[in-house]
Amino acid sequence: ESLFSELDDIPLDPHYALKEDFSADPSPSKVILGSGIYRDKNGMPWVLPTVKEAEEVVKTSEDSGRYDYLPIPGYAPFYTAARGLLFGALSSPEGNFVSVQTISGTGANSLGAHFLSQALKPSAVWLSNPSWVNHANIWKSVGVTVRSYPYWDPERKALAFEDMIQTISLEATPGDVIVLHGCAHNPTGLDPTKDQWTMIANVCESRGLFPFFDCAYQGFASGNLDEDAWALRHFSSRGNMELAVAQSFSKNMGLYGERVGALHFLTASPDAAGKVKRHLLGLQRGLISQPPKRGAMLAATILKDNALFQNWLADLCEMSSRIKCMRQALYDELISLGTPGNWDHILTQASALSK
Ligand code: PMP
Repeated sequence: ESLFSELDDIPLDPHYALKEDFSADPSPSKVILGSGIYRDKNGMPWVLPTVKEAEEVVKTSEDSGRYDYLPIPGYAPFYTAARGLLFGALSSPEGNFVSVQTISGTGANSLGAHFLSQALKPSAVWLSNPSWVNHANIWKSVGVTVRSYPYWDPERKALAFEDMIQTISLEATPGDVIVLHGCAHNPTGLDPTKDQWTMIANVCESRGLFPFFDCAYQGFASGNLDEDAWALRHFSSRGNMELAVAQSFSKNMGLYGERVGALHFLTASPDAAGKVKRHLLGLQRGLISQPPKRGAMLAATILKDNALFQNWLADLCEMSSRIKCMRQALYDELISLGTPGNWDHILTQASALSK
């Protein structure tokens, strides 16, 4: 008799269950639309040409320390450059910021949830309905009540903006955390307009909600890194809100398996930043000790070298414009086949890829 035989038989994450069914399906013309991985026109993974260049740079600079541990917060050239990419000119003065390298975007969400659950003891975390499936997993695992705000209106195939504002204004409690997708909302691909973001920021400010941005697709929605950071920079530039950001380089650098990401906090004072940092490092030590080195070195090489950075922008443009073309081709085919229904949303959504 096993100690575990009484455990509930919980189902596999629906996304991974779908992937398993997909792999088992023998059809030669099968296509999976649910998978958050960029593929080239032959359906193959795409190693960004800029990442290949960065691999050469990292290889030649490698020494006997290549397999050494990183410090607990990770590789400093990486997480400071990564912060600059998100916050732009706002990222200085640096004193109010805290950044920690994490196990990609998932690890950033998870470390943030661990910390915020302890530091703010929120009565709830508010997730969009629907949201990336893992958000609920992550917050449940740190014992925080998960609630949802309306986001997708299936009737209109549009943002349920009024209902969203009403729910967070009337039902959320000061000190609650609200998770916001920085751009290319997963799974709907639908983002608020700049005016709508401003109104969301107004509610967060007036209701005392803590904004936790999840930025897994910077550069994928519009093809422009600054444009895709607009919402986050708007919240930050108001100067009276503390916030957190989970950042991933899985999609925009195609570094999925390298697990490259960071968690950033913008706090009200250097004193608060210092405290947050010590708490994050304490948690990081217990959870993973140190993040992995190689992917962070590749990303830092690209972010810090002007020529490589420019090449990366071209790679990003190639991916985002190809995704737009694929959406157009899918739309055109549905229309030419006379498929019943309105398919306009395929063209108006941004390019979120779920996983
Ligand atoms: N957040 C969102 C919204 C995502 O879609 C994803 C990946 N699908 C992630 C976070 C995390 O991805 P990763 O852990 O590979 O960075």
